[in-house]
Amino acid sequence: MFDRPLKILLVSPEVVPFAKTGGLADVAGSLPKALATVGNDNLGNDVRVVMPRYRQVEGCYYRMDFPVPFKSRNETAIIRESSIEAQYQGERRTIPVYMVDNYHYFYRDRMYMFDDEAERFAFFCRAVLEMLPKLEWQPDVIHCNDWQSGPIPLFLKTHYLQNSFYNRIATVYTIHNLQYQGNFPKDVLQFLGLGEEYFHPERLEFYGMVSFMKAGIVYADVVSTVSRTYAAEIQHPEFGERMDGLLRKRSADLYGIVNGINFHEFNPRTDPRIHRNYDQFNVDCKKDNKFALQKELGLPVRNVPVISLISRLVDQKGLDLIAEVIDEIMGGDIQFVVLGSGDHYYEKLFEDIKVRYPDKMGLYIGFNAILAQRIYAGADIFLMPSRFEPCGLGQLISIRYGTIPIVRYTGGLADTVNDYNPVTGSGNGFGFSDYSGASFLKTINRALQLYREQPEEWRKLVINAMELDFSWARSGVEYINLFQEAMSKRLSVQRIA
Ligand code: ADP
Repeated sequence: MFDRPLKILLVSPEVVPFAKTGGLADVAGSLPKALATVGNDNLGNDVRVVMPRYRQVEGCYYRMDFPVPFKSRNETAIIRESSIEAQYQGERRTIPVYMVDNYHYFYRDRMYMFDDEAERFAFFCRAVLEMLPKLEWQPDVIHCNDWQSGPIPLFLKTHYLQNSFYNRIATVYTIHNLQYQGNFPKDVLQFLGLGEEYFHPERLEFYGMVSFMKAGIVYADVVSTVSRTYAAEIQHPEFGERMDGLLRKRSADLYGIVNGINFHEFNPRTDPRIHRNYDQFNVDCKKDNKFALQKELGLPVRNVPVISLISRLVDQKGLDLIAEVIDEIMGGDIQFVVLGSGDHYYEKLFEDIKVRYPDKMGLYIGFNAILAQRIYAGADIFLMPSRFEPCGLGQLISIRYGTIPIVRYTGGLADTVNDYNPVTGSGNGFGFSDYSGASFLKTINRALQLYREQPEEWRKLVINAMELDFSWARSGVEYINLFQEAMSKRLSVQRIA
């Protein structure tokens, strides 16, 4: 369609390795590398990234500053710059990462959860757009991610609509988790620089609030989310977080592209964080990682099935199902390893289980990226019984490390985990559909039975899983197609105008 490299700007509130609170940061740090290296004529694409410069971000240098029209006055944006590196056909490609800095809005002791979130991110979005002519760089498409960048498509179709520098730029808005919507009282319209007429159900009004996520969904040329199943689910009230009607309205422009993971970073053959490296040709070495993990967590060093959980400890993750079945599981000869942090209620739940089963449970409450890798390498089974899951990265990493996932079939879990078939031997994990302890337990027992009674079959399942490709290779191409789709839409709208 567009037979030339594309100019793509990815906007995200967090990007690995600079700032991370969740899976979005992993996507924003790894997708650009894929986008830079796929495309027409094998030329790759000109990809750049922009995020806020939080106080904790280091290693970026001053590039420029300029006034941003904001709240009927000017507020200064400082642009700093850093980069991420991609490998392309043996050569290194540098992807610029611009950081919008402003002492008042971003020099704080954490990234989010302040009273002035709407003001902070409205400023960020405005500054991103003001930055572009100053860089003398006109992207073909701006890829916005989550509510913090929802105002960008809105601004392009309001403040910048008549400006020839901007009016050809297409937008894609990606929903990573519909639960976090950025809804604020009506008076935040002042930060968007828009009048009362935008407080309307066809525009920004959402149950008496102004919604930044709705701004993205309504005004972007194309909307996407991070798996096909989630794209379908969110059009129903059960998963739609009250936005299902709006999403149904845009269903012709709503796509699902499953996330990939960085196959260089998550590679058991080379991962420096794990005790012993291995690949699909020597999966038995996983056992050494298991023993090292047991030692590290103070568990008896034995060759028993190790079941694991690495997760934010929040309602979304289906942890009440674990509470329901835990005594049954612990009744068997297994060990259970948990790494997570989040709601006090769930932290306490796991602490209580640890008290009851001190010799069977390894527990680490907190965020620990190194221990996470050691668990992915050393465990046999990885639990993800989520209530909903837009995509999920945990199951993709566990598959890469030959740790068999047991998942609830929802969102991206349904799109990436195939149930083991005892007749053909196909599959890469185990799954169940109805949200109940009984189904979950049945599935765990199915897995444990295979592990114990047919070790050779289990071994094949591990190898099957490790041979799968959940890198960005395929999804990167799908994103390029999506960007081209958005560009075509933008062009046709312009022709009509
Ligand atoms: P979500 O984005 O909803 O938290 P994902 O499965 O998409 O869930 O991504 C979670 C990522 O964060 C995975 O890479 C997982 O390994 C990692 N992770 C979650 N909790 C922890 C923790 N306590 N310590 C280290 N890594 C964690």
